[in-house]
Amino acid sequence: MARKFFVGGNFKMNGTIQGIKDIVHRLNDAKLDGTTEVVIAPPALYLLLTREHLNPEIEVAAQNVFDKANGAFTGEISASQLKDSNITWALTGHSERRTVLCEKDEFVARKTKAALDEGLGVILCIGETLQERESNETINVVTRQLNAVAENTKDWSKIVIAYEPVWAIGTGKVASTEQAQEVHASIREWLGKTISSEAAENTRIIYGGSVTDQNCRDLAKQADIDGFLVGGASLKPAFIDIINAKL
Ligand code: PGA
Repeated sequence: MARKFFVGGNFKMNGTIQGIKDIVHRLNDAKLDGTTEVVIAPPALYLLLTREHLNPEIEVAAQNVFDKANGAFTGEISASQLKDSNITWALTGHSERRTVLCEKDEFVARKTKAALDEGLGVILCIGETLQERESNETINVVTRQLNAVAENTKDWSKIVIAYEPVWAIGTGKVASTEQAQEVHASIREWLGKTISSEAAENTRIIYGGSVTDQNCRDLAKQADIDGFLVGGASLKPAFIDIINAKL
């Protein structure tokens, strides 16, 4: 079974009511590659607005989710609340949350499990810092991040793995096609060894970090790159071209 190309848009902490509506209308009006799965992740405040106005064929993701179902957790949102609001995906482990919000591998793993247990899809973000890459730690780092999730999650059918080298996020420094393909191939090998051969065959591994309408086509041609997680460019008209990278 061929893996369906997957493009996510991570708006991060950007946008206003009007700005989000403009993006939604642009997506609704665009001619999108029907063979690509598209998911956008606006800030939590705008999730319902987005879901209400967006073409139902495009899915909506929360940028974060908590690992508990409900209760005294001020400021947090649970997977069941997302599901109740028809938000069918969540991001976990984004490097900005790992670094700025100090989220550890085990916490990311618990959030991932909580989202999967509610039936949500998860875009699980992993990736190394520049220092880790320069000390040849890339594969060790991504494997450590994946192992934490594998400890309590055996079914990877609703996980999309986003490989996002931290040094490429928001910097304009995209990984070369060879650098990205090499890590994606290692992740697929890890899936085969640790989860199952089906998981290795079927799990989408997408690339994130300074993806633009200029560099997406070459990246999309790599054997193990099954799509993108797009930050800055997902707010712009160029996002449409990235969604259509395979056309
Ligand atoms: P960027 O962000 O495309 O702006 O580099 C990617 C991400 O953080 O998901």
